[in-house]
Amino acid sequence: MSKQRFDAILESNNRSHIKITEKAKRSAYFAINVFNEERMLQHLTKDALESVKSAVYSGSKIDRKIADQVAEAMKGWAIAMGATHYTHWFQPLTGSTAEKHDAFFDLLPNGKALEKFGGGQLVQQEPDASSFPSGGIRNTFEARGYTAWDPTSPAFVYDTTLCIPTIFVSYTGEALDNKAPLLRALSAVDEAATAVARYFDKNVSKVNATLGWEQEYFLVDKALAYSRPDLLMTGRTLIGHTAAKGQQLDDHYFGVIPQRAIAFMKALEKECTKLGIPVKTRHNEVAPNQFELAPVYEEANLAVDHNLLLMDVMEKIADRHHFKVLFHEKPFAGINGSGKHNNWSLATDTGVNLLSPGSTPMKNLQFLTFFINTIKAVDSYEELLRSSIASASNDHRLGANEAPPAIFSIFIGKQLSEVLDELEGVSHGKLSPEEKTELKLNVVGKIPEILLDNTDRNRTSPFAFTGNKFEMRGVGAKTNCAKPMTVLNTIVAKQLLAFKKEVDSLIDKKNLKKDEAVFNVLREYIKTSKRIRFDGDGYSEAWEREAQKRKLSNNKSTPTALRVLTSKESLELFKSMQVMSETEVRARQEVELEAYILYLQIEGRVLNELVYNHVLPATINYQNQLITNVLGLKEIYGAAHKALSSAQLSVIEQIAEHVAELKKKTDAMTEARKKANKLVDSHKKAFAYCDNVKPYFEEIRLHCDKLEQLVDNQLWPLTKYRELLFIK
Ligand code: ADP
Ligand code: MG
Repeated sequence: MSKQRFDAILESNNRSHIKITEKAKRSAYFAINVFNEERMLQHLTKDALESVKSAVYSGSKIDRKIADQVAEAMKGWAIAMGATHYTHWFQPLTGSTAEKHDAFFDLLPNGKALEKFGGGQLVQQEPDASSFPSGGIRNTFEARGYTAWDPTSPAFVYDTTLCIPTIFVSYTGEALDNKAPLLRALSAVDEAATAVARYFDKNVSKVNATLGWEQEYFLVDKALAYSRPDLLMTGRTLIGHTAAKGQQLDDHYFGVIPQRAIAFMKALEKECTKLGIPVKTRHNEVAPNQFELAPVYEEANLAVDHNLLLMDVMEKIADRHHFKVLFHEKPFAGINGSGKHNNWSLATDTGVNLLSPGSTPMKNLQFLTFFINTIKAVDSYEELLRSSIASASNDHRLGANEAPPAIFSIFIGKQLSEVLDELEGVSHGKLSPEEKTELKLNVVGKIPEILLDNTDRNRTSPFAFTGNKFEMRGVGAKTNCAKPMTVLNTIVAKQLLAFKKEVDSLIDKKNLKKDEAVFNVLREYIKTSKRIRFDGDGYSEAWEREAQKRKLSNNKSTPTALRVLTSKESLELFKSMQVMSETEVRARQEVELEAYILYLQIEGRVLNELVYNHVLPATINYQNQLITNVLGLKEIYGAAHKALSSAQLSVIEQIAEHVAELKKKTDAMTEARKKANKLVDSHKKAFAYCDNVKPYFEEIRLHCDKLEQLVDNQLWPLTKYRELLFIK
């Protein structure tokens, strides 16, 4: 690159060198570290820009020459931003992100050094990724995998590295990551939703799924967190007596954010802003030390990337602030765990939210079409949707004592229920002119008005309509949103295709008008998807019984929830929508089961260590003190003296009982683990861990927590809840 060109780039980047003070407007430095459209406009030739834009818009291929140009421009910009390395940034099936940094630096044969980065490196890389989980794909097919550029998510400079979002696939084309299936699902829903949206507006040529996540997390002092082997190794406390004060006073929720936490949040928001993550909301959550952060919603693929990037940035910034951030779904017993609501909708390229009621009856018919089709899709595939958020750590929330339940149901509120009830009464076939007028004016026409004051919300519903979007609430705080988003968009795509077919057939064969046909099909959907609608208390036992009658699934554990992935219907769904082949689905099931097993295995081991190396020694130490005390008293006063009360002996005995039980159960747990480990079949092994190993965890914990209350505070070797949970 010529010196002038380099200077020109530096010059055009001058915004990135502005000093970001405390008071700087966030809009002034939003996305300065991102190679987004604004940057491309500055750095790319017209052809290259058009090519990238068309790839983003319609998924067209970018040819090699253009890729070279883009790479050259990206390199220039990134180096001017201080980058020394580049990496393909991808989402292996571990659930988080992976990166391998290469320097731009290179040597020519003559020994001259230079900074190099061409189209080849931008478009494709081959990380030595043999250690990433592949569910057997790499064994059965081809050992190698490669990463390929995803131009729909802009590259960014983080620290001193240019990060290029990529998919990760095997050489035979199987997806080895979470992004590739998501992109396919988004493309499927785009195609299906665009075709349906065009019933109402011919100008629509693209539909984007939108996602707004709400990330919950805990902040714990770093030094204290590191003093707990369980927090460090498993992300949660395996033992620990609840603090006398927990969340019962509701004094943390939306309360004043503690100073230290605020300092962390400000630094985090600054970094996020530079990286183009549009974070907007921050507040205290219900549990002590629990917080939430939410952005402005974005196109789903970008939103997923931003969530993953956020989690990474959070950990780094927290470290600088001497915090450890916990994303585990249930880090502490006795208080709330953390989730990540996924707000989802569909937006057209004409700027319309398809799940937002409009100002005209026609707009509202469009709204009802997408609204009812989503309900129908969730009804058809509720169990699959549940499987998309299953994990060992999320099992502590779903189906445990904490919301939302493992049963999928949809809350739509009283007013919309009434609208659907009225639509259900629509007559078959052609509509009379009176009926049409009635529908237009009083049913469909009324929607925006009623929604305005529709403030009833149901916090216990796992899938709730909240005015202009659906909110999926069971997603775990740690979960990669790509998983639920892949399933949700695939099932909605499938449903919309079926809908279109039915409507077209009524128009063609029964000679119905378009809106009549739409009403006819929607009416049937309302009837056949009723069981999924539930506006009551999702946490109640009564609902569990009722849901069973409605034949809704209630899969409380991950091994149970994952079974449906490979059912005939699921395989057929993914295949027909070209989201995943049977091999890819089976591989994912295998990876998820394996992760479940490993996770519980680690928890079991850590628990074993805690018992044998921490709890038992401390307890016996204390018991010895008590015994010495008793022996001393005996020596001074004699065995019959009142100074030697039964109280002292009873503490010694209580301790002895817990110690005996604790040892017995810990050893039994180890035995159960050994037995489970011998199983070869992943599903059987996962069930063995779930049914035979995991139940010991709670029992062991019970004795440890009782002992924590009995043993001298000074001798207790583990940081307690009351110390972990109350930062100031
Ligand atoms: P809460 O659910 O906590 O009451 P809000 O309803 O204000 O909060 O919004 C929560 C999230 O919903 C935000 O992250 C926001 O970006 C997202 N959101 C709002 N509109 C949409 C939409 N059309 N599509 C996807 N997400 C949306
Ligand atoms: Mg919410």
